[in-house]
This record gives sequence, structure tokens and C-alpha cells, in this order.
Amino acid sequence: MPESFLSLATPGVQQLTPYQPGKPIETLERELGISDSIKLASNENPLGPSEAALNAIEKNARAIHFYPDGGGFKLSQRIADLHGINAACVTLGNGSNDILELATRAFLAPQHSAVYSEYSFAVYPITVQAVGAQANVAAALPASHASMPLGHDPEALLAAVDASTRIMFIANPNNPTGTWLEVEALHKLVSAVPEHVIVVLDLAYHEYMAAHLKIKIADWLQQFPNLIITCTFSKIYALAGLRIGYALSSPDIANILNRVRQPFNTNLLAQAAALASLDDHAHVENSVAMNNSGKNYLMQALDAAGLCYLPSMGNFIAINLKRDAQPVYEALLHKGVIVRPVASYKMPEYLRVTIGNEQQNQRFMTALLESLA
Ligand SMILES: *Cc1c(COP(=O)(O)O)cnc(C)c1O
Repeated sequence: MPESFLSLATPGVQQLTPYQPGKPIETLERELGISDSIKLASNENPLGPSEAALNAIEKNARAIHFYPDGGGFKLSQRIADLHGINAACVTLGNGSNDILELATRAFLAPQHSAVYSEYSFAVYPITVQAVGAQANVAAALPASHASMPLGHDPEALLAAVDASTRIMFIANPNNPTGTWLEVEALHKLVSAVPEHVIVVLDLAYHEYMAAHLKIKIADWLQQFPNLIITCTFSKIYALAGLRIGYALSSPDIANILNRVRQPFNTNLLAQAAALASLDDHAHVENSVAMNNSGKNYLMQALDAAGLCYLPSMGNFIAINLKRDAQPVYEALLHKGVIVRPVASYKMPEYLRVTIGNEQQNQRFMTALLESLA
């Protein structure tokens, strides 16, 4: 028997710590013996899923003894239509996190490196280290930056690329910061990435962005054969619990991703619900509207309280408490409000709060001000 099974794990896995998800409501209520809690910790859509998605799930529930369509023909075609591209450019994933993993498994070996920014999404280091590759972490813009504190720094990202680099991850907007690159800056960055590097552009929150910040996906795919764009049904489409997302890329890259994809990686109900969701434009519009008004409310309330926060194009705000955020996080838990501490992102003085509905936002602000007093 080995002294510890950890010594048997690969070196990259030995260095990992498990991803810390937002605390589920049920867990909190069991631990503290409280009820009526709210969760603003995982950037879930407060509107809940579209009725069309729920109907599709009900309709398909009696077919779950069948394997799903492994290639997801109907959903891939519908996604392709949405973006004005060919279905051969679409790869479905069990959440977009699955796509991130497919990309690292396909393109990274232990002698390779991936580039991403400080304070970017936690799944990038997990997938990179899991395959034993190296991470070249680029410094973010400084906290003192006038317009985009802790944002991605294109020059630093490019400087982190070397001959061993095979993937650059860019989240736009980024989680947990909410920061973004303007279209022109992003275009300049992607154009400057050498051709031996696959750019994984993570657009999990793209639908929430202001119109002038959205890229023309079809044009970019045409222009950049080394581009993988990842999208998800977890955020604006409110299907996080079903786990479904997708990649858009050149057919060549899609073919490579499909070599490492599990045959039935997306489930039958998720495919049906995602397909139905894409036709419910009102749900998307209502979700954007609720997010915009909630964001305005929170920003005004935080300003009024003299609290600092990062600019955000997502459905969440990273608040800089300028003190250890852990006790405040815990005080909020006792008031039945679950937010996300981000010390694991090296942001120990920040709390990330998901923008909820009006009532949830007000409850959060009241609880936050009480917890800080
Ligand atoms: C939430 C999120 C995702 C979505 O992950 P899924 O696996 O699709 O649920 C992807 N990237 C970022 C940056 C996110 O914040």
C-alpha cells in the first residue's frame, strides 16, 4: 500500500485543489437550521428556465430509456442557424466546462503550456493541470487601473505565449471580475496570437453584454481558423442544472474536439430543453432587462454606501470590501444570503454577488450593510 494515494496521482493532479462551488441552499439550511434563504452565488438566472424548455423536458421525459442523439443533430443545426454558420462548426458539451476540457485534452500534453490571465475562470487551471500541462499566467491590469481594474491585459497575455503554448483562454466578460475587452482590443489580441496557439474565447456571459461589445461570431470564425468560441445554456438560458453548452470553431477543430468527446456527453433532456430555449426570445429579453435593472440598482446602492466594485458586463458584481471578506460572507450566510467568496481566485477582499430579482437584490443589500456595520 502506498503511504498516500496522492503520491500515485499525476504531478499536475497533486497540485490541484477541488473546485469550490457556490453553497447550495439546501446545504446552508441544513447546516444552520434556517429557512427562506436565497442563493446569489453561482450566476444562475433568477427568472428560472423558459416555459418552453420545461414543456420540452416533460414531452421528452418518457424517452429517457433511449440514448440521446450523440451528435445532437437538431440542436447543433439550430445553434448553427442562430449564429449563421455551418452545423459542422458546432460541438456540443456537457456544459461549456466540458468543452474547455475537450480543448485541453485535444491540444495540451505535458510539454505544452496554456496562457490565461490572473483572476480568470477557475476551470482553466483545473483542466490544464489535469492533463499535466503548464500554465503561463499573465498579469492582469492593476487594481489601480482607471477603467478596467483587474481586467485582462492583452500585452501581458501575448508576452506569456512561447513556443510551448498551445491554448490561450480569454473570458469575455471574465468571471469572477466581470471585466471585459472592447471588440477592437479583443480583435487586435486574437489577431496577434501566433497560429500554433488555439484561442479559446469563453463567451458564457455574451448575451448580457451591451450591444456594442458583442462580437460578430460568424465573421470571427471565418477570420480566425484557430478560434474556439465557447457558449453555454447555464447562464441566460437558465439551464445550469441540465449541463449543456457548445463550442463554435472551424470544422477542422470541431473534428478534433469530436475525437476526444464522449459519445453521449450531452443528455436527451438537456438537448430538448436547449433547443426549445433558443426559440423563446422573450425569455432572453426579460432576462437581460432584469439583469440590467438589477445591476443599476446594485451599483447605485453600493455607490450610496461608499463601497467599491469592479465594472461588470456579466450577471454578477465583484465587490471590493477592502477587508477580509470571509467574515462578511459568513455573516451573510447567517442571514440566509449565499454569495461567493473569491479568496481562491486570490481576491480575498472581494465578494462576488449574482444579480438577482428586485426582491433578492434588496435583501442582499440590506444584509450586506448590516453585516458590515
Ligand atoms: C459559468 C461559466 C461557464 C459556464 O459553465 P457551464 O459548464 O456551461 O455551466 C463558463 N465559463 C465561465 C467563465 C463561467 O463563468
